[in-house]
Amino acid sequence: MSDKRHPRTLLVHGGTRRSHYGEMSEAIFLTQSFVYPDAATAEQRFIESGPDEFVYARYGNPTVRMFEERMALLEGSEDAFATASGMAAVSATLFSGLKAGDHIVSSKALFGSCLYNVETLLPRFGVEVSFVDGTDLDQWRAAVREDTKLVFFEAIANPTLEIIDIAGVAEIAHRVGAKVVVDNVFATPVFQRSLDLGADVVIYSATKHIDGQGRTLGGIVLGTRDFIRGTFEPYIKHTGGSMSPFTAWVMLKGLETLDLRCRAQAESAARIAEALAEHPAVERVIYPGLPDFPQRELAARQMETGGTMLTIVVRGGKQGAFRFLDGLDIALISNNLGDARTIVTHPATTTHQRLTPESRAAIGIGDGMVRISVGLEDAADLIADFRQALDAI
Ligand SMILES: *Cc1c(COP(=O)(O)O)cnc(C)c1O
Repeated sequence: MSDKRHPRTLLVHGGTRRSHYGEMSEAIFLTQSFVYPDAATAEQRFIESGPDEFVYARYGNPTVRMFEERMALLEGSEDAFATASGMAAVSATLFSGLKAGDHIVSSKALFGSCLYNVETLLPRFGVEVSFVDGTDLDQWRAAVREDTKLVFFEAIANPTLEIIDIAGVAEIAHRVGAKVVVDNVFATPVFQRSLDLGADVVIYSATKHIDGQGRTLGGIVLGTRDFIRGTFEPYIKHTGGSMSPFTAWVMLKGLETLDLRCRAQAESAARIAEALAEHPAVERVIYPGLPDFPQRELAARQMETGGTMLTIVVRGGKQGAFRFLDGLDIALISNNLGDARTIVTHPATTTHQRLTPESRAAIGIGDGMVRISVGLEDAADLIADFRQALDAI
């Protein structure tokens, strides 16, 4: 398949492998292992497997391979490896590429489990970690050293939606030969070309927009063939975080509509952001597509749209936020994102509950803050739902 084709075409056809039955929809190869025609083939397969040859599902599987290839075509990477969850992807990227004595620099505004890996686990294995405010390039400049092996960050912070300048950080990291690892969940592979901006490794929790319908956990790591096959694969295949064929099939179905879903969700997010900014019960709307977004210029340079996520600050702190959440009829209270259903989250009491109030304040999370993952419902219905819940605060 030519990678010159439009992403929408790649998302429907990319990576497809058909069996001799000529099935239309990708088959689920629900098999743990594979049968060899003779002993010599088995021996050869254990020395080296070709791209269409498999040994054991923990190492690779035809359905999983289809998902990996389709994602690699979309992202424009040489190769990819699918994992059991987004966290399997993040932790295996860090642990496969680092050893005791190494130094890394990480943004401090991270998804809770990412922070646990970087702040608690890596130091336990002798990796030195420096934390920076990822939006401040001067802090990256000061923290990156000659011996820095890797830099790690989420391109858009959760839930404050602060954006990290990938090209700017990559320039600093590449001067000392450090690898740039980007967790790109919030920006989605549809709206941001992280590799073109200078990232070396891009990670997705496929649980989010890629499934997009709230069914399965999954993750994927994309990068050079050298990194994926030489560094990542030996680690993941022996530590067990591979994706199941069933999950890969669900993800393949998700990819077929990924572009359409993300665009529809981003369009609604922009409309909702504008509508809510005018409501008297709303103190502030944070959305990268709004003219008053502090990093508007960087957002426009780095992302094709403002994305599918927005964050609002309602008046009345925790009580105001709870009244708003409890008053909603369409949007659901949960902590996932990227779903077909609109989801509202109160970070201070859920996803970021474990942080002290001071740490929350330091990364800009207040008690009135509500994160909204915009779904596929009609935007006017959603705006009406948000308005009536805000009116009742
Ligand atoms: C959800 C998420 C993860 C973890 O993904 P799982 O699939 O839940 O393991 C990592 N990073 C970010 C930014 C996320 O939103």
